[in-house]
Amino acid sequence: KDNKDTEKSCLVIGGCGFLGRHLVDGLLCKGYHVRVFDMKQTFEEKKIQFFTGNLCNKSDLVPALSGVHTVFHCATPPPLSVDRELFQKVNCEGTRTILQSCREAGVKKFILTSSASVIYEGTDLQNGREELGYAEKPMDAYTESKIEQEEEVLEANDPSEDFCTIALRPHGIFGPRDPHFVPTLVSMAKKGTTIFKIGDGKNKVDFTYVENVVHGHILAAEKLTRKSRISGRAYNITNSEPVPF
Ligand code: NAD
Repeated sequence: KDNKDTEKSCLVIGGCGFLGRHLVDGLLCKGYHVRVFDMKQTFEEKKIQFFTGNLCNKSDLVPALSGVHTVFHCATPPPLSVDRELFQKVNCEGTRTILQSCREAGVKKFILTSSASVIYEGTDLQNGREELGYAEKPMDAYTESKIEQEEEVLEANDPSEDFCTIALRPHGIFGPRDPHFVPTLVSMAKKGTTIFKIGDGKNKVDFTYVENVVHGHILAAEKLTRKSRISGRAYNITNSEPVPF
């Protein structure tokens, strides 16, 4: 393998999930050599090497990481779960295990899918900038774990040792195969319980089309180098203007 080839080898952790699978498609289109790590394999694709396991287990991760240049981490327990312990175990401890395994395997770039909820304090935010601090009162156990996870990832940034990290923060992602947002609305509609209103009904909320989120991830991976100023930082991701909800 020449250098260019090695640089294009990547692993998508959570690659069978909603965002992960779209990211895999985007990476394949860009000529990346793609591996997927997930709890179970949910689709077939000849060009992909699949690894199944639990990201909390280093021994499951090691084979998937060997020879990999770039890691995208977009696995999570279901965000609507109320299982605080599971979020801690997977999003916090699991991410520490992944980071350590990446360092040991010689991975160079690490892209975390974080969430815009890490800066949401319960008050509307428009044109919120990255400089805003983390929410002091995170809205739920999921967000609490996403904050800790993001901090871990950004602290692990170590360009002098050729290990660069970045965190991307989309808000609600929509698009084909969305398992969360639209299906929830549809099932509520079927039960006749869709009529709810947030605030005075004029609140705005931000949704991002899944391919735009993918685009952001691939750009981040391409621009993330030892000398770039994006290394060790978090970026909010949005379509453009939030839409009335
Ligand atoms: P998803 O539930 O569709 O996919 C998550 C994947 O992670 C699943 O395939 C699941 O099997 C895998 N996974 C969970 N626990 C695992 C474990 N212990 N070991 C290995 N794999 C495991 O979620 P998604 O919507 O694709 O979200 C992807 C990322 O984007 C997450 O980090 C999430 O926090 C973030 N995010 C999502 C949204 C959204 O609206 N969907 C918004 C903001 C941020």
